[in-house]
Amino acid sequence: MTPGESLDRIGTELNGLSIDYRRLNWAKYTTGMDFGVNEAYGRILSFLENKETWDKLMEAGNSRLDPVDARKAEILTRSFRPFHLSPEMNELAVRIQRLTSALSGVLNTHRCSVGGRERNATEIEKLLSSEPDRALRKEAFLSRVQVSDALAEAGFLDLLELRREYAKGMGERDFVAYSLKEQELEPDMFSAWPEALGEILPRMERTRANLAEGCAGISDIMPWDESFIASSLAPELDSHVDMTDFLSPIAELFAGFGFDVPAMNITYDIFPRRNKSEWGYNFPIQTGTDSRILANVRNRYSDFRVLLHETGHGVHSFTSDPGQAVLNMGISGIVSEGIANLFGSFFTRRAFYSNFFTGNEAEGHFSNLSKWKRATQLTALGRILFDGSLYTSSPGSLQEIERLRWQTDADLFNREPYSNRPVWANTIHHTTHPIYLHNYLLGDLTCDMLETVFLKREGVGDITEKPEAFGEFLREEVVAPSGMYPFPELFRRISGEDLSLSFLVRRIREELEG
Ligand SMILES: [Zn+2]
Repeated sequence: MTPGESLDRIGTELNGLSIDYRRLNWAKYTTGMDFGVNEAYGRILSFLENKETWDKLMEAGNSRLDPVDARKAEILTRSFRPFHLSPEMNELAVRIQRLTSALSGVLNTHRCSVGGRERNATEIEKLLSSEPDRALRKEAFLSRVQVSDALAEAGFLDLLELRREYAKGMGERDFVAYSLKEQELEPDMFSAWPEALGEILPRMERTRANLAEGCAGISDIMPWDESFIASSLAPELDSHVDMTDFLSPIAELFAGFGFDVPAMNITYDIFPRRNKSEWGYNFPIQTGTDSRILANVRNRYSDFRVLLHETGHGVHSFTSDPGQAVLNMGISGIVSEGIANLFGSFFTRRAFYSNFFTGNEAEGHFSNLSKWKRATQLTALGRILFDGSLYTSSPGSLQEIERLRWQTDADLFNREPYSNRPVWANTIHHTTHPIYLHNYLLGDLTCDMLETVFLKREGVGDITEKPEAFGEFLREEVVAPSGMYPFPELFRRISGEDLSLSFLVRRIREELEG
């Protein structure tokens, strides 16, 4: 066996075990039933811990390799190495995974109570977007605090401690640096972000205030006003659509770019039910073979935002090469979120909304909505940097976590606490995907970068003027090489620029001032 074949064989086996694990997770998230998630994870761990496989990997990695095989060796080594440091680290990894899984169960099955009545997340979202009574919206928003106690009781603080310990064991400064390095990003990436935000913050706040005042008469925007303002700017968001045929408009949009969605094996589970996770996900079960979407629609136009985004993930899977098991493991989450966000953004673009709304009125509404979203985009930094502070500080109690949350808002946005307790625990990423939230923002940034590069090269004003060429550009220049390079390098290859938040700040400024 050549070293390259040896690498492929290890990758294929690891991929097979991951596929089983993802299938079981899908069952757990869609039904609340656990058919052996921990056992499947255990099988992945035993494979990663296997000394013989590790030796084979090292042997192959130390051979003379072409650039593709060298990249494969690098990707696989990153997965295996943590399990060949010490038995203590292996045990720590298992404890982290078990606790994460238990806590995700708490979050997925928890229901908040508003006015003494149990409400699921989609009902709360509906209240927040359409309830004109501000006091009721406030109550609905703050009901999300309820899950904080349940999460803390189930061991969230222990989870943080275990992760901090793990990063130390890996020889890293802290869990943030460890995670960013694992994602092939600069360990200090976040440190320049507050300053970049500071440059544009006054402009953002002015735009937000003008739009909120104009459409909803709100002069002091509170968290429970955010989605109400969005749906006041574009009442279309809340209008009823029949979701029984949700796939046709989606398929038509993607077909324009040369992607045949109905021909792809994408499963949609989109209606809410008891014990089903309340959010929206794509489960990338097996690249190019099996992709599944979990969502919770309530027959509103705004549901398409999630469906388009998650379908974007599915299409990404089916444009990747299923034969490249190892390289596919090297695809950055930012590329995935960038492509998904790009298609998600069609939700406010005429090419998609014209299926449901026509006329100048809708155009004006969606244009204001886009402006609002631009002016609001960087508020994501609050969650991203708070998530990091959970590891760079060492909160020892729920109260200290809550203080950190307020502190982040004060430092970044100069905002005062909006209540006696902040809402944070309902963001499942803090529990299941730590140091991941930046992928969405960098995904937005990537999405802007891809459009900018394409428009300039083709000399057009909108990607919908050359949709097939744009689809081709995504396939050939983004998806195809995406497993081969660490994200910052891929970004540089496509755009000719270094990855930094300034790309996004520039776009926001252009759009808010233009
Ligand atoms: Zn996504």
